[in-house]
Amino acid sequence: MDRNNYGSYFLMDTKDIPGYIKSKAGFFGNDEALTVEEIGDGDVNYIFRVRGAGKSLIIKQAGRVTRLDPTWKLSTDRGRIEAEYLAVQRKLTPGSVPEIYLYDPVMCAIIMEDLSDYTPLRKALLERRRVPAFADLFSTYLVNALIFTSDVAADHLQKKEMVKQFTSPQMCDIFEKLRNTEPFIDMYNRNRILPENLDFVRREFYEDKGLHLEAAKLKFEFMNKPQALIHSDLHTGSVFVREDSIKVFDSEFAFFGPMGVDPGNFTAHLFFAWANADAEPEQTADILDFKQWLLDMVEEFFALFTAKFKAVFNANAADALAKTPGFCEWYLNNLLVEAAGVCGLEMARRTIGLSHIEDLAGIADEKRRARVERIVLRLAKLLILNRYRVVNGAGYTLLLRQAVDDEKKNNQVRP
Ligand code: ADP
Ligand code: MG
Repeated sequence: MDRNNYGSYFLMDTKDIPGYIKSKAGFFGNDEALTVEEIGDGDVNYIFRVRGAGKSLIIKQAGRVTRLDPTWKLSTDRGRIEAEYLAVQRKLTPGSVPEIYLYDPVMCAIIMEDLSDYTPLRKALLERRRVPAFADLFSTYLVNALIFTSDVAADHLQKKEMVKQFTSPQMCDIFEKLRNTEPFIDMYNRNRILPENLDFVRREFYEDKGLHLEAAKLKFEFMNKPQALIHSDLHTGSVFVREDSIKVFDSEFAFFGPMGVDPGNFTAHLFFAWANADAEPEQTADILDFKQWLLDMVEEFFALFTAKFKAVFNANAADALAKTPGFCEWYLNNLLVEAAGVCGLEMARRTIGLSHIEDLAGIADEKRRARVERIVLRLAKLLILNRYRVVNGAGYTLLLRQAVDDEKKNNQVRP
């Protein structure tokens, strides 16, 4: 470890950052006064904002172990993966990701654009802020990000080289366990479930072999389908928003996987925002309107995604057979089915599994939280089991209504 020349890896703190950033030419003057704050709130990375006289930037360093558990080791190569995903997508979808100024493979640190004039979408939604342009901007991002890294539009040889570049066994293993397995089988005894819902989860998830069969199919799709460069951890906390612009970030889990993962995983978090609003004791006109806006957005998003997918596919398909009539529809249909399944997986893991999100965990009244978590879990199951029918936004909102009705019928009346 050498804190002076940054020639070998060590975990930096705020005191190390000025010397570090000045060791990289071109960012700040040698004598420039810098202020540094640590702004990260995550479990495994360290995020610093550095301000000089005229500009600011962000440094994100990957730690070797999680803060939760120092024996839980994580490959620092994820910093490279994160930076390289953003570099690829910056070319394919200009303006939709932060600019990476430098990736330093020694310190496993990304030096990037400061986006402090943006808000993470999760925060905006928890404040019940509507972002009218979101579905349009986000559907454009996803369609470009997925189609141009897939065999539909990319050179097949080049794409296979990229599959190697983005192979990330440890990061995939995390999701294979947390998202694909543990909501169904509590393998490591680390699931976290509200006491009131323990019996429900045992009966509906741990003991349902029909559900396990569908989960197994989705797991093996996730492990065996290098279709496109996917973000893989796309949720409302990994997209920054402004009124007129979005920035997708935090892409350390990226790899070549099934295209449906990104839209499906993300959509789960729109339903978490809905559940948070549904747990409000006072269902005011504004709350009702906000919940409806979210459901309308799910429908709008899938409608726009589908229309743009077909247009970009038809305009850019380079494979010799891809333009065969009917192929685009078949390909897109598989993607949408996969998305519905993954949406269900993500809903289950954020309520049953280790890693919770503020939308649900932040609901102070435990009875209200338990009720909306059961709705989320019912919807998760419906999506996984009925995914072949869920090929547009109305498919999701219909199943949400069914989940709400099922919860009412089971005598869990709104308190
Ligand atoms: P982690 O992978 O450790 O969760 P994230 O990349 O999600 O880290 O960043 C954590 C938080 O740091 C974000 O929610 C955001 O508030 C802040 N942050 C990250 N990158 C930037 C950036 N480029 N500009 C401004 N804030 C950022
Ligand atoms: Mg992260």
